[in-house]
Amino acid sequence: MKSRIVPFILVFTASALMASAGPRPRYQLAATIDYELLTFQASAHIQVPAVAGDPLRDVSFFIYANYAGIVGDERRRNISVDSVTLNEAAIPFSLTGPVLHVELPEPMAAPFTLSLNYHGVVPRVAAGGDGGGLAGLMGTSGLDLGSLLGGLENSTGSRRHTDYGLYTYSGGMLSLGSYWYPQLAVRQDGRWIDSMPEGVGDVSFSEAGDFEVRLTVPRGVVVAASGQADDQVIGAPAGKRMIRATATGVRDFAVLMSEDYVHAARSYETGQNSVTVEGFVLKENESQLERAIDVAGRAIQIFSQRFGPYPNSNFKVVEGPIRGGAGGMEFSGLTSVASMLFEDWSKSLGGISGGQGLGSLDSLLAALSGGAPGSAARRQSPAPSAPGNPGADLLGSVLGPQMEMLQSLFEMTIAHEVAHQWWAIAVGSDSQRAPFVDESLTNYSALVYFEDRYGKVAADSMRDLHLKTAYSAGRMLAGKDAPANLAAAAYAGDLQYAAVVYGKGALYYDALRRTVGDKIFFESLREYYRRYSGRIAGPRSLLEILEAKAPQAGVEALYRRWIEETHGDEDVGNGNLMGIGDLLQKLLQGLGSSQKP
Ligand SMILES: [Zn+2]
Repeated sequence: MKSRIVPFILVFTASALMASAGPRPRYQLAATIDYELLTFQASAHIQVPAVAGDPLRDVSFFIYANYAGIVGDERRRNISVDSVTLNEAAIPFSLTGPVLHVELPEPMAAPFTLSLNYHGVVPRVAAGGDGGGLAGLMGTSGLDLGSLLGGLENSTGSRRHTDYGLYTYSGGMLSLGSYWYPQLAVRQDGRWIDSMPEGVGDVSFSEAGDFEVRLTVPRGVVVAASGQADDQVIGAPAGKRMIRATATGVRDFAVLMSEDYVHAARSYETGQNSVTVEGFVLKENESQLERAIDVAGRAIQIFSQRFGPYPNSNFKVVEGPIRGGAGGMEFSGLTSVASMLFEDWSKSLGGISGGQGLGSLDSLLAALSGGAPGSAARRQSPAPSAPGNPGADLLGSVLGPQMEMLQSLFEMTIAHEVAHQWWAIAVGSDSQRAPFVDESLTNYSALVYFEDRYGKVAADSMRDLHLKTAYSAGRMLAGKDAPANLAAAAYAGDLQYAAVVYGKGALYYDALRRTVGDKIFFESLREYYRRYSGRIAGPRSLLEILEAKAPQAGVEALYRRWIEETHGDEDVGNGNLMGIGDLLQKLLQGLGSSQKP
């Protein structure tokens, strides 16, 4: 999913394949938001498709707002279900954590519609608190300084749930993500895939569905939502707006809103269609609005050419209160990008260094980005590495190479999230049990954006900065290499997950491309996209296509080596790329003893 549009009439160029995906669930959702209390009342009418030869006796849904990873009082639910009815008759249900289980009065062999009434509350988190700031950010590249520092406290590998700020109010933004409605579980081999989400990474796993959504909000609130919105005041109470939106053939329906969003839109021609890219950012970040739209629009053009047509006419890039190790989150036709990525890095690093007892790094960063010692930037502010601040001093000695990585995170993250529209949203996969299927390919795809926009040298530099460093730093801090095809919960923690799935797993595609050549590599990705759009791909689905196109190339052996086995140290290196090993070792020493290294 874990991350997931249009005049909501989606233009599916791959319509022949969509048809093969079978009937889709239909969601009619209505919610009235109390923006003062951060509560809502909602109803859902969900048409559950019939499964041939498998009459349904029960149905499972996920209400991710109740996932243990969402912040709040663990004894209280964020969403409670008031009633479930079938043909106007109440039927029994149970709600255990995020899993809503409904017993049907009789086996159902034909599609049927369940009606639910429910209400929710959205947790409020102080901006910048609880892992905010750089410490709360892990680029979608899988690595940044914040996650490394955060990981130091957790490097023994304890498994924990992570709250990414996807269902929260913070910093003047209300994010409901796709966690605010009951999402039909995936049914495979006669059973619902409804085990409790656990471990790191995304939780969402869904079939493509059709949505018709009505949201009632105060007039002053700007809504950024999946799909094509049709703003209607008619029928809304005084002082309110009703927004109606529809989305067809999408994995989920995301909603964010703020009184402080400014927005803009621009059209991009992909060669197949015209896509309107809308950006929503807080007023204070308005200077970044055009850049966010531009990166998303160019990424859509590039991926449409490389992988196949973007299936919608609309995409939104939305600043959100994301934290806890994620830089962005993909939804259908929409990506939410962490506020932190819009901020000034020197302030962010100042905050993190303060949090780590290292004092302000503002002037250090100014010096690093502004040129040699003695430059104007350095002279204008007091040196942070003054005697008595060994932490900042040691950071200063090794942080230079990190600057490029930090400065490219904004673009890397948006390119990554846009690539998810192909891998995760169009081609579905199980983000809990096989997260590498979408994440590794998505992280590699971000390099394709850099390659096609800036050239091979730039792409190689991004590969080293973001992918190789993710692996080698994770190796240093999180211990062993691991197979890339494990379930999210099987990794020892965020760092190992990032190292293996976002680092080594993405570099597998670099090796694969060199092995089979550009032509077969991209033809296979296009076929994979065509064949699995609107459906769910398994771990070996792409491999099967490659095998058929290049039976002699040894792609099976390459897959075994990179995905199923553990040769990361030989293939990627466990070493000291970009000086990050020095940085971290010195930081550990500095934090542990306050001795000068
Ligand atoms: Zn991702």
